[in-house]
Amino acid sequence: MSEEVRVDTVVVGAGNAALCAAIAAANEGADVLVLERAPEAKKGGNSFFTDGAIRFAFNNGLVDLRLVKQDMSEEEAAKIQVEPYTEENYWEDFNRMTEGKCDEELVRNLISNSFDTILWLKENGVAFEMNYDNQSFEQNGMYHFFGGNPMKVVDKGIGLMAFLNKRLEGLSVPVWYNSRATEVIQEKGRVTGVNVEKDGQTIQVHANSVILACGSFEGSKEMRGTYMGSQWAGAIVRGTEYNTGDGLSMALDAGGVKHGDWSDCHSISTDFNAPRVGDFEKPGDIFKKHSYPYGLMINTEGKRFVDEGADIRNYTYAKYGKEVLKQPGNKAYQVFDHQVRHLLRKEYELDEATKYEAKTLEELADQLDVAKENFFETVKAYNAAVQDGDFDPSKKDGKHTEGITPPKSNWAQELKEGPFYAFPVTCGITFNFGGVLVSQHGEVLDDQRKPIEGLYAAGEMVGGLFYHNYPGASGLMSGAVYGRLAGKAAAAFAKNDSTQV
Ligand SMILES: Cc1cc2nc3c(=O)[nH]c(=O)nc-3n(C[C@H](O)[C@H](O)[C@H](O)COP(=O)(O)OP(=O)(O)OC[C@H]3O[C@@H](n4cnc5c(N)ncnc54)[C@H](O)[C@@H]3O)c2cc1C
Repeated sequence: MSEEVRVDTVVVGAGNAALCAAIAAANEGADVLVLERAPEAKKGGNSFFTDGAIRFAFNNGLVDLRLVKQDMSEEEAAKIQVEPYTEENYWEDFNRMTEGKCDEELVRNLISNSFDTILWLKENGVAFEMNYDNQSFEQNGMYHFFGGNPMKVVDKGIGLMAFLNKRLEGLSVPVWYNSRATEVIQEKGRVTGVNVEKDGQTIQVHANSVILACGSFEGSKEMRGTYMGSQWAGAIVRGTEYNTGDGLSMALDAGGVKHGDWSDCHSISTDFNAPRVGDFEKPGDIFKKHSYPYGLMINTEGKRFVDEGADIRNYTYAKYGKEVLKQPGNKAYQVFDHQVRHLLRKEYELDEATKYEAKTLEELADQLDVAKENFFETVKAYNAAVQDGDFDPSKKDGKHTEGITPPKSNWAQELKEGPFYAFPVTCGITFNFGGVLVSQHGEVLDDQRKPIEGLYAAGEMVGGLFYHNYPGASGLMSGAVYGRLAGKAAAAFAKNDSTQV
């Protein structure tokens, strides 16, 4: 292999954002090379581990969804009840989740491109289906979809990456595995390529444009400690071990600036015994524990610490991971009774799930690592605080507690019918909220908000979108939208500027 290579556009990373960028650039006629740090057996980044849920605006309700899934039969369509999820609804969710802090220009750009990008993904071979398991309830033969993201990719993140890789192959775009980009090369203020470590060699890849789509720093214990605090050393990394902040460092070294909240991240309640980093043999997001709105979360001191029913899980799960991290031993139990057992998501049934079951609360507590007296006192106080009302899992039912802290604002029913169940959870980090500042075309901007010529970023590297919390399933959409935009812009830049390399 030669030690110098020339292409129009080089894409760093081979996750969702990177492959969308590579496909978009190749569709524009650019000569593209993709560099991936992981070995081929561990390809796909965080995107491979996802549930494949992807949030997009569909202003025309089911009519739009049927454009995405064109093989939906009349029979299936007749049983679907779904409200339109407009661009304004999407914006309101972003604004509310991020407490008004998100970068409105970047977020509105994401939202206004979301439906068109879903259709583009479909045209490029990605298949979608209705997310019956996680986003709907069956009532009188009808499936009621809730929460604004009724569709997912067929076969989750595994399917997404297979579809995108197939398209890339069709476009004859090469991917180099075991190839870690280490530095963006610049000459006279503009980007001219990247240095890559491949099989012990340093190779210069010359390119007119460089797209960095190589994740954030969730996989780096050191960077988590530096930016988020030493307690984050204890978090499980839900996805790839390879997102250790290389892209962010390269972008900053090239003159980019930080954007968004580098001290916060997306994190969830995950099985206490989940692998410490994502296991490529066990993808499919099988360790998450998202059914806490129907039960209680109790720490090892026997105390509750969040309002489990503050909202539907789409709008609380991404901020409750860090609350679990704050508990002694980074541990808590999700506790349920027989009344809601059938409502728990599929992951609770898997062999991989750690679970305890007992006929009585006393027998359950005997199996747990909890301060028993406090545990019983907590459940007793909670049961006494539950107000009358109809329990309804299909919506925020307003059935709440009074007089306890924290309250439970919805789905509060007494924990009283055995058998009882407990699932131990800890905090799993998904990705960081902090990134770099980009333009609406994915150009990396400098401290004067001017594009660094030839440099683009996408996916987790885009800063300013998420603060505090996250509208579930927006990560894949962000990666697809900004990947596609960056790919298109980088290809146009490369072709207009081919004298430069
Ligand atoms: C378990 C789990 C479930 C999730 N479920 C969902 C979901 O259902 N819906 C949703 O919207 N989001 C979900 N997310 C979030 C989602 O995964 C991310 O938002 C998104 O996939 C990030 O895409 P990306 O392309 O930016 O990064 P990635 O997919 O992580 O790709 C980055 C790639 O860059 C490579 N890389 C890193 N450094 C270098 C380097 N120096 N040189 C070359 N390559 C490098 C990495 O190896 C990796 O392959 C989930 C995440 C996890 C972990």
